Amino acid sequence: MHQDEKIAIIGAGPVGLTTALGLARRGVPCVVYESLHGIAREQRGAAFHPPTLEMLHELGVGEPLMKMGLRIPVWQMRDRVNGVYAEFDLGVLADATDFPFRFHLPQHYLSTVLLNELRQQPNVEIRLGETLQSVEASDDAVRLVFSTENGRRESRASWVVGADGAHSMVRKTAGFSFDGFTWPEKFLVTNVRDPLEALGYTGTAYISDPDAWAVVLKLYDDTGDDLWRVAMPASVDVDDAMLLEPESVQRRLRETLGADMPFTLAYSGTYRVHQRVADTFVKGRVLLAGDAAHINNPIGGFGLNGGVHDACNLASKLAEVWHGRATNEALELYSRQRRTIALDVVQKNSIRNKNLMDERDPAVRLRNQQTMHALSIDPYRSREYLMETSMLSAVLQALQIN
Ligand SMILES: Cc1cc2nc3c(=O)[nH]c(=O)nc-3n(C[C@H](O)[C@H](O)[C@H](O)COP(=O)(O)OP(=O)(O)OC[C@H]3O[C@@H](n4cnc5c(N)ncnc54)[C@H](O)[C@@H]3O)c2cc1C
Repeated sequence: MHQDEKIAIIGAGPVGLTTALGLARRGVPCVVYESLHGIAREQRGAAFHPPTLEMLHELGVGEPLMKMGLRIPVWQMRDRVNGVYAEFDLGVLADATDFPFRFHLPQHYLSTVLLNELRQQPNVEIRLGETLQSVEASDDAVRLVFSTENGRRESRASWVVGADGAHSMVRKTAGFSFDGFTWPEKFLVTNVRDPLEALGYTGTAYISDPDAWAVVLKLYDDTGDDLWRVAMPASVDVDDAMLLEPESVQRRLRETLGADMPFTLAYSGTYRVHQRVADTFVKGRVLLAGDAAHINNPIGGFGLNGGVHDACNLASKLAEVWHGRATNEALELYSRQRRTIALDVVQKNSIRNKNLMDERDPAVRLRNQQTMHALSIDPYRSREYLMETSMLSAVLQALQIN
């Protein structure tokens, strides 16, 4: 086969690897390029929603995933001072999905399962240690330039999928815009090895407070030991060295979780959070998916999930185009469907979630909490809300867009 016929995928994160497997399963040859020498193991996405599990099962990787991970049916909304004000049980969606729970598994486990599966595929090549520098597209091919340990390398492909994350070189060098904003605070992410159930937390909890809001997630760890993530806000005016001082992290955890105890810190780090969406997800032979196309704050767990949804949508359409059974209009449809969801669902809901958690006005905060409490005990409205927050509605909504 001539190399121009292959599809190039930039980035071996969960989105690039899902796209590659979706293409390979449909008989489309592809090459995945990744600048690292293996799977990134950073502390990132860890919560899978029901439709994502459905898609990963369809792709044939559900079984190894479900042997790991934690099934979390119930999630809480809490006020830092007054405790739980709403609880939601995904079990009520048992008639809408085979997976009526959140599934907690750090994303590198998914990437590892996908990579192992891709290595069994005869039509997939994985090239580690190759960093894309630029993309140049013509009417019938794309030219890609990489830097490697052995110097510069050029390659060609029929299409290129930029799944190279938030700082995507595909997006930058192919001239997409990426408008939006950056939140004024940093996020301080910690992992602790203490059993937070003992403090009354279910596996997912969102804590509201104007200054000390937090997201609390129970994480899967293959040692079987307790592992919980607590993500909190931190001032951009304070140095990371000070923020990450163990005593400072301990104090933040005590204040946020309302527990006067020493925590067993396994990890702490900070990062900046943005809300941005590319102007389009397709320009001729250049496509974007996942964080390369859209980024959002992690409250609600939409980033990783939305990226996997992009990958599955894109792989099915791109395969049809590659086989000559559909025109490029299918790729425009991918962009319309997934960009609409990125804007109307993911951006809107992740911003709403953050505003709900850090509301400063006590009267508005109380009213919000009363509204969420009333919603949580209303069977019809809580089901609608769960359909929306679990992204099941978004997947159906995307299919309506033509
Ligand atoms: C702290 C944190 C917590 C999060 N929590 C959640 C959560 O609970 N739920 C959720 O749904 N989402 C969450 N997210 C978001 C989620 O992690 C991302 O949406 C997800 O990683 C996107 O996957 P991706 O494959 O698009 O990009 P990435 O995971 O960023 O992968 C991109 C890959 O491309 C490679 N690459 C980059 N540039 C190049 C280049 N020039 N050439 C070759 N390779 C390149 C990178 O090395 C990387 O392997 C969180 C994010 C963070 C930071």
